[in-house]
Amino acid sequence: MEISPYVGGRSALDGRQNVIRLAANESALGPSPRAVAAYEALGSSLHRYPDGGAGDLRDALGTLNGLDPARIVCGTGSDEILQLLTKAYAGPGDEVLYSRHGFLVYALAARAAGATPVAAPETDLRADVDSLLEHVTERTRVLFLANPNNPTGSYLSRGELRRLWSGLPENILLVIDSAYAEYVTVADYEAGAELVDAGKNVVMTRTFSKIYGLAALRLGWCYAGEEVIDVMNRVRGPFNVTAPALAAGLAAVQDQDHVDAARRHNDKWLKRLVPELQNIGITVLPSVCNFLLLRFPEGGGHDSKAADMFLTSRGILARNVDTYHLLDCLRVSIGRDDEMDALLSALKEFMA
Ligand code: PMP
Repeated sequence: MEISPYVGGRSALDGRQNVIRLAANESALGPSPRAVAAYEALGSSLHRYPDGGAGDLRDALGTLNGLDPARIVCGTGSDEILQLLTKAYAGPGDEVLYSRHGFLVYALAARAAGATPVAAPETDLRADVDSLLEHVTERTRVLFLANPNNPTGSYLSRGELRRLWSGLPENILLVIDSAYAEYVTVADYEAGAELVDAGKNVVMTRTFSKIYGLAALRLGWCYAGEEVIDVMNRVRGPFNVTAPALAAGLAAVQDQDHVDAARRHNDKWLKRLVPELQNIGITVLPSVCNFLLLRFPEGGGHDSKAADMFLTSRGILARNVDTYHLLDCLRVSIGRDDEMDALLSALKEFMA
């Protein structure tokens, strides 16, 4: 009963059509048409159980990312993977460590497993390697790091990530949640597979909910060492991923042109929005993801709560990030061109 249920971004407004949904970091372009076709084609065989081992999808993910498919496990969204890892590796009396403004699910999963969530302070809204390592105790079992992180959009470089792992006792599982990896274009970023290969205590989690635009289907996966994979295959449900999700996921992986287009679209808007928003007095945190964390000036009627109300009045849904201890901020996802034009003109009017 100590768990506060996860509250996601709003997706509808009473009595209003054509709402601009920028509160859940969904894909601006939506899924590949090939993924949608594969999903629809499954309609004629819904009486069949899915492939419980997700073989074809794991093979395709292995080929795409240069990974051994035998060391991949698929899940009902990466959420399921995060929950299963926590339940498998932490319990009452144990601690689950994460970064103060890290993705909310880590603390919820820790509590659901009966463990104690421990938040390490950040520096300038970035995970701080030293602070994380200082908060390791003999009770720590799992360390969750979203890289890049939601809702801050910040990331740890390959070198920083390796320093974190090197400083961590081997009996602690390092879970690198790379939900937004496909959006990242900076050269010093590594999604986590290198570290998985370097040690037995690292897991990388990924999702089809972001750049692949398949959030509704709930599909995610992880890459880990043999022992962790063995554990995951014991604790997961035998048919934990649905057949339509497997089919759509496979087709999506095979359409990397669509992924490239989504990445280009995202880059274009990140580059355009940051200076324009800074110009009108909003502080924009550097982001390598498909969203931006906006910090509004306190007082003067231009604070984050007033901004949220103003955007809502224009049918634009941003994400309130109070539960992430970011009271003066709002998070907005990168949407379609028309949606971003509408966001910009609304914010210009609000800040004027
Ligand atoms: N990790 C991070 C950092 C996220 O932002 C999200 C989605 N909000 C998830 C994991 C979960 O994604 P899904 O369960 O849809 O795969």
